[in-house]
Amino acid sequence: MFLTNAPKVQLLCNPLWENSNIQLSMLRLDQVHPVVSGNKLFKLKRYLQQALAGKIQTIVTFGGAYSNHLVATAFSCQQSGLKSVGLVRGEKPDALSHTLRQCLQYGMQLQYLPRGEYREMSAQPDAGVWTEKFGEQILVPGGGFGRDGMLGAEEITGLVDMKQFTHVCVPIGTATTFAGLVSHPDGKYSVLGFPALKNMRDIEDRLDMLAVNRNHPFQIISDFHFGGYAKTSSGLFTFMNSFFEMHGIALDFVYTAKMMFGVEKLIQADYFGKGATILVVHTGGLQGNLSLRPGVLNF
Ligand SMILES: *Cc1c(COP(=O)(O)O)cnc(C)c1O
Repeated sequence: MFLTNAPKVQLLCNPLWENSNIQLSMLRLDQVHPVVSGNKLFKLKRYLQQALAGKIQTIVTFGGAYSNHLVATAFSCQQSGLKSVGLVRGEKPDALSHTLRQCLQYGMQLQYLPRGEYREMSAQPDAGVWTEKFGEQILVPGGGFGRDGMLGAEEITGLVDMKQFTHVCVPIGTATTFAGLVSHPDGKYSVLGFPALKNMRDIEDRLDMLAVNRNHPFQIISDFHFGGYAKTSSGLFTFMNSFFEMHGIALDFVYTAKMMFGVEKLIQADYFGKGATILVVHTGGLQGNLSLRPGVLNF
């Protein structure tokens, strides 16, 4: 559904892993669409289908001012002929972020919620609260975190022959995509999740909430958040620039760059063992880089 390109699995070359007889490939979800790249379209798919099947015209969801999820919702609703409402964390800023401007371009109605209210509303999404204001709707939890989001994410692995991999690496925000990889029945891979948030200790609970079949062993690698969600450092930008130089692939600074930095560190520490075949999932999100100061990235 509105993927302009089927995602490719790209083999990456670097003596760092080739010398250890490790094969590293990247699933390029960043290429599925020029603007709304990545995992978000997959997570949204079933919510959109429910709306269309039930003749419900509106999708309401939550997100911050830089949320890839909000843009993906705005875009995919526009493509599907649905209305979209974004409940945005915090007061309306004087200057809208690139992300929010893009949401408006795709026809999303934005409603700003004070942080406390946002926290409460998004923790226990209750469609009833918004019916009066926005009409009959499908309320999608922030980041698509829900069983339907997970089943959509699981379809990502359906696009690839997973039997060829010993390890699959993915960044973690809400852990919905991670859960989809753990639940996918094919192959014998282990899943490594790289949280983009500091002190994320509830990932097991999240798997329970999503009623995940634990079909694969998994490991949470929590050392590579770089100080917390969306925090940066010059070392991170240097890594992103040299990764781009070497592979011609742009990473986003919130999720995929931190994961990839971590994967390289684990390879250096001999975490994977000789003969490993690793798949890293490029979950997209490149629009987020537009919030950085011009010039820090060479791409
Ligand atoms: C949202 C997002 C994630 C996190 O996905 P979850 O399913 O919420 O864990 C990872 N990478 C990118 C680029 C994202 O935009």
